[in-house]
Amino acid sequence: MVEGAQAGGEAEVPLLIDAADVPEWAAGADLVIMGFGMAGACAAIEARAAGASVILVERTSGCTGSTSAAAGHFYLGGGTAVQKACGFEDSAKEMARYLEAVALDPDLEKIRLYADGSVAHFDWLEAQGVPFDRSFYPQKNVVQPGRDCLIWTGNEQVWPYRDQARPAPRGHKVAFDGEEGGGALALRILSGRAEAASATVMADSKVEALVREGGRVVGVRVRRFGETSYVRADKAVLLAAGGFGQNAEMVAEHVPVLASAYVQGSPYDDGLAIRLGTAAGGVPIHMGEPFLTSPFYPPEQLLKGILVNGEGRRFVAEDSYHSRSGIFSSRQPGGTVYLIVDSAIFAYPHFASLTNQSLIDGFETIAEMEAGLGLPAGSLQATMAAYNAHAAQGEDPEFHKYPKWLKPLDEGPFAAFDLSFGRAVYTGFTLGGLSVSADGQVLDGTGRPVPGLYAAGACASNIAQDSNGYASGTCLGEASFFGRRAGRHAAMA
Ligand SMILES: Cc1cc2nc3c(=O)[nH]c(=O)nc-3n(C[C@H](O)[C@H](O)[C@H](O)COP(=O)(O)OP(=O)(O)OC[C@H]3O[C@@H](n4cnc5c(N)ncnc54)[C@H](O)[C@@H]3O)c2cc1C
Repeated sequence: MVEGAQAGGEAEVPLLIDAADVPEWAAGADLVIMGFGMAGACAAIEARAAGASVILVERTSGCTGSTSAAAGHFYLGGGTAVQKACGFEDSAKEMARYLEAVALDPDLEKIRLYADGSVAHFDWLEAQGVPFDRSFYPQKNVVQPGRDCLIWTGNEQVWPYRDQARPAPRGHKVAFDGEEGGGALALRILSGRAEAASATVMADSKVEALVREGGRVVGVRVRRFGETSYVRADKAVLLAAGGFGQNAEMVAEHVPVLASAYVQGSPYDDGLAIRLGTAAGGVPIHMGEPFLTSPFYPPEQLLKGILVNGEGRRFVAEDSYHSRSGIFSSRQPGGTVYLIVDSAIFAYPHFASLTNQSLIDGFETIAEMEAGLGLPAGSLQATMAAYNAHAAQGEDPEFHKYPKWLKPLDEGPFAAFDLSFGRAVYTGFTLGGLSVSADGQVLDGTGRPVPGLYAAGACASNIAQDSNGYASGTCLGEASFFGRRAGRHAAMA
C-alpha cells in the first residue's frame, strides 16, 4: 500500500483529496461528523442546538461502536445530584486536583473545564433522558451488577492520590440491570435526540478520505455499497470514529503490549480517523498508552491478598483500580505475577473463567508455596513476613494499601492464582489519539488548529491518557463532554 493511502473499495484511496478533484458534492452541511458513537451523537446534539446543519456519516447500519459495548460509567463529580443524594461531599476543585495528580501529562485547561462543568454535564445527560438512579454501590467491583449508580471507579482512595485530593466516588453508571448495556442505552437515547433534532444520518457509509481546499478541510469522501460520493462541510469536519485497537500495524508500531492482549471494542477501531487527522497536519499523542486489565476482584476480599512477581516481591498497591494493577503487572519481569491469599480470604476471582486466572495450587506453608511457584529461596517468606507484621498494625509502609484491605495473611493453607501477563487473559483498548484543543480543534505540530478539522472521543486525546491513571467513566465522560464542546465550537465557526 502506498504511504498516506488506505484500502477502500477496489483501489487504494489517498487520505487527502484536493477539492478541485471532487466531481460533485452529493450532499452538504455545516458540520460533517465521521462516526455516530458517544462523541458524534453529543457533538451533533450541540451543533444542532447552536443552529448548525449536521450530517453524521456512520460506517455501520446503526449505533454499534465501542459505546455500545460500554458498561455505562461516566466519570463525573464536583457535587452531582447523585453524589449529594448519596451523602458524598465533592467539589470541582477536589475533582480537578485528583485528575491532575493521576494524569500522565495533565492538561490543566481541559481538567479545569471538565471538573467545573461536570455537574452541569450530568444534568444535561439527564435532561436528554439518560437515566441515573440516586444510589450508591459500596463494594469494590469492576461494574456494579444492578442499577445502582455511584461507585468508586478510580484510584481516589489509593496512595499517593488520596493524600493529594479529597477522595469521592465519581463513577456514575447509567441505570441498567446488568454489567453490560449501560453504554448502549445511553447511546440509544442520545442518538435518538440527535435525530429528533434533525441531524441527518448517512448509515452504512464509510468516510475514507478528507477533502481539502487551500489547507482547509472542506468535506469527506464516502463509500456506500460500492459507490463513492462526496459530502461538503461548510464549517468543519469532526472526526469521531474511535480508536485504533483493531489495526494490527498501528498496534504493533505504537502500543505493542496490546498485541498480547484481547482488544475490546468496535471492529471499526481501525485508526482511520487518527490517520486522516495526521495526514491533514494533526499530531497523535499518547499513542503508546493502552487501557489494560485482568481484574482479580471482585470479590473485594481478594484485595486483602498480595500480588507478587517472579522475584517474590510486591510491586503495586493491590487496592488500585484494576487497570493500574493491570499495567504494573504487565511490566513485571517475564510478566510473572501471582495473587497470594490465605484460607480466610480465599475465593475464586469472579472473572477467572474469562481471564484464565488459574488456581495454581494450595500450600500448607509459605515455604512450600515459594518452592512450588519456583520463587527465589527466602523471597516470598521475607515478603510475607514483613507484610504480615505491618498489616497486624494496620500499616503498609511499602505501598500504603488502604487500612480496610490490610490483614495478615497467616491462616493456612495458602493459595496462589496465576495472573501472569501472557498466561492470564488481559483485555484492553487504545487511549492515544489526536492532539486537540479544549474545543476539539485538531492541533498541528506548532499547536495551531488545522483549519476546518475537529476530533473527539477515542480518536482524540483528552482526559484518559494511560492505564495507571484511568478511572472507569473517563472515556464516556470525555467523549460526551468534549464532543459537545467540539460540536458547539464548530457550529459557531
Ligand atoms: C467492553 C468495553 C467497556 C467499556 N466501558 C466503558 C465505561 O463504562 N465507561 C467509559 O467511560 N468507557 C468505557 N469504555 C470505553 C468507551 O466505550 C469508548 O472509549 C467510547 O465509547 C468511545 O466513544 P466514541 O464515540 O469515540 O467511539 P465509538 O462509540 O466507537 O463510535 C465511533 C463510531 O464511528 C464509526 N466509524 C468507524 N470508522 C468509520 C468510518 N470510516 N466512517 C464512518 N464511521 C466510522 C463506528 O462504526 C462507530 O459507530 C469501554 C470500552 C469497552 C471496549
